Amino acid sequence: MKAVQYREVGGAPEVVTVPDPVVGPGQVLLKVTAAGVCHSDIAVMSWPAEQLGFPLPLTLGHEGAGVVEALGDGVEGVAIGESVAVYGPWGCGTCLMCAQGKENYCLRADELGIRPPGLGAPGAIAEYLLVDNARHLVPLGDLDPLRNVPLTDAGLTPYHAIKGALPKLVPGSAAVVIGTGGLGHVAIQILRALSPARVIALDVSEDKLELARTVGAHETVLSDERATARVRELTGGLGAQAVFDFVGAPPTVATATGVAGVEADVLIVGIGGGVAQLGFGVVPYDASVRAPYWGSRAELIEVLELARAGVVDVHVETYSIDEAPEAYERLHAGRVNGRAVILPNG
Ligand code: NAD
Ligand code: ZN
Ligand code: ZN
Repeated sequence: MKAVQYREVGGAPEVVTVPDPVVGPGQVLLKVTAAGVCHSDIAVMSWPAEQLGFPLPLTLGHEGAGVVEALGDGVEGVAIGESVAVYGPWGCGTCLMCAQGKENYCLRADELGIRPPGLGAPGAIAEYLLVDNARHLVPLGDLDPLRNVPLTDAGLTPYHAIKGALPKLVPGSAAVVIGTGGLGHVAIQILRALSPARVIALDVSEDKLELARTVGAHETVLSDERATARVRELTGGLGAQAVFDFVGAPPTVATATGVAGVEADVLIVGIGGGVAQLGFGVVPYDASVRAPYWGSRAELIEVLELARAGVVDVHVETYSIDEAPEAYERLHAGRVNGRAVILPNG
């Protein structure tokens, strides 16, 4: 089958032919309908070998959806031909976190060498994808895989971050979204659907800010050295009650903490290497900073319900599998508006 692989440190993604995967006991084979392209892959492909933690080549793609093609011995609960989305942050299934559906925070994944598809295990940008366990599948039903596959990460990750901050987002509050790309433009929609907060979106390009307004941001601000002052002005000098940084680079983390108000929740989601300063008198009273990762299985079901209710609509650009390397180049150059989605089987 065709697959898009990251083959050697520092190399570009390549379309290659690899052996068709064969389903083993307990596993599910999917014929991939759609796979999303995430900025985290670009970060991973910039890391030195010692930071990777898994061998190359790696088939990319940690946002996946497919139709069940074959079931391994003992698999129950899914049927051949069913359209499903893949829950990506695979865990052991039995530890204290996994028992709560929070496989993203599995306590034993590292020790057991369990890696998400596309981030260690073979990923979804391929004609077929092997899923290790049926519990990592959520039925899509009538939802279009092409438009909804990004919800498995670009939806689930902001949903998890936002859900934790919802108690702060009372009427009259403000929420700041920094970086309105794949994750950020979905975050704005989730905030609008779940909270009465005024949403202020920041990005570096006017195209991205345009998308932010289209999906529901009340205010947009260019993300430069004046952004913190502008956001404080927009919030009557008080700052925001929740801040979501989908860039996570040193300047945006500084903005994120700089626009926080008293008791604010600051969520650093982007993996751009920024480090927040926290201490008495450094941030407003009782502000907290967290760095969440992906989301739980239950939260993926909830995000798909938001799509079913029609309140979350991912803006997608589609590419064939042969065009996947170009999709990565465009994402790297900041030229993808919304999410790039690969259709490996046309
Ligand atoms: P993306 O490229 O689609 O979007 C990033 C957006 O940030 C773009 O619109 C870009 O123009 C904007 N941006 C860049 N520099 C900026 C700045 N200085 N100020 C404001 N905006 C700026 O990326 P994505 O796929 O949405 O991923 C966003 C980040 O989240 C990445 O760092 C990714 O690795 C990370 N991520 C983290 C998790 C997690 O679980 N913590 C999960 C998925 C992605
Ligand atoms: Zn991702
Ligand atoms: Zn576990």
